[in-house]
Amino acid sequence: METSTTGGALPAEAITLLETLLASDTPLHHALRAQIPHLRVTGHCSCSCATIVLGLDETLAAPAPVTDNPVVAEAEVLDSDGQEIGGVLVFAHGGYLSYLETYTWLDEPITQFPFPGQLS
Ligand SMILES: [Zn+2]
Repeated sequence: METSTTGGALPAEAITLLETLLASDTPLHHALRAQIPHLRVTGHCSCSCATIVLGLDETLAAPAPVTDNPVVAEAEVLDSDGQEIGGVLVFAHGGYLSYLETYTWLDEPITQFPFPGQLS
């Protein structure tokens, strides 16, 4: 039975993006990947970009061995011509995934999470 009342289910494209960005074999990424099935969307950026705030029941997954750097993964985002238009950042705080952020160099924010093929 679902006991958490906070947040909504993670969109499929956010799950794919997190799995892609956290795919390395380091202990950090290994522990963070194990949190993905438990993540909920607990907030959105105040602008129209795709950035989401992540939350989870911390009793369901172990904290990851994070360092002082809250950015645990990042990639550049390319458009269909291969031009860099921005990027994505994954943040963790206290050992748990906390933000999946998109940013752009263009005037308009990135409103959809990029597909793995758009990452560089
Ligand atoms: Zn935003």
